[in-house]
Amino acid sequence: CKPSYKWRRVLLKVSGEALAGDQTQNIDPKITMSIAREVASVTRLGIEVAIVVGGGNIFRGSSWAGCSGLDRSSADYIGMLATVMNAIFLQATMESIGIPTRVQTAFRMSEVAEPYIRRRAVRHLEKGRVVIFAAGTGNPFFTTDTAAALRCAEINAEVVLKATNVDGVYDDDPSRNPNARFHDSLSYQDVTSKDLSVMDMTAITLCQENNIPVVVFNLGKPGNIAKAIKGERVGTLIGG
Ligand code: UDP
Repeated sequence: CKPSYKWRRVLLKVSGEALAGDQTQNIDPKITMSIAREVASVTRLGIEVAIVVGGGNIFRGSSWAGCSGLDRSSADYIGMLATVMNAIFLQATMESIGIPTRVQTAFRMSEVAEPYIRRRAVRHLEKGRVVIFAAGTGNPFFTTDTAAALRCAEINAEVVLKATNVDGVYDDDPSRNPNARFHDSLSYQDVTSKDLSVMDMTAITLCQENNIPVVVFNLGKPGNIAKAIKGERVGTLIGG
């Protein structure tokens, strides 16, 4: 009989920063390959995996807005295009090891990827394909964390798994404060009232309103992605 796992369908959020690792290049191919291998191991178990990729390793709209007259919306569109680059890189890596993968973009780039169509995305997942959502929400002034919460709600995924470069949520920056305390679990309320830098407010509120738990975990530790997707205890669990 088939073992049962905690989640049936998950939304994995991979930030741009996590893709860069500690390399000076924008993307570390070792990281994309390790993501691909771990995702492959869980799709074989029948868990459906959708991914939202960030773009901060290439371009972050808020950091560039204002430079040489670049308005925020234009800067954000460049940021969204950056996420498409990451998505295509990740797709190519996944397919190189035999995982059927589709990229869907929030605005049309039909020569490069499918447009986002919710029902089609769900159908891909049901067929065992990985779906990578690119270009965020398609709107400036938002983040890919918000895109992750939004897509998760839309496709009825059960959890947002936020892969980062840190082990989870601390009460202070652990790289500066060795006494920073690690949180195993937090409520949405804790995150918003203590202003913990987990996700932006729009993203966490969307999760709260739709009762979507969020797991924040370190992508750099081998095995963590597969563990998080299988619902094993890893990182910080936010919910309730
Ligand atoms: N972005 C946007 N709308 C969205 C998602 C992203 O305008 O719905 C832009 C924004 O400029 C952002 C950039 O894309 O800075 C990259 O996304 P994000 O910063 O969320 O990436 P991450 O921090 O996950 O690498």
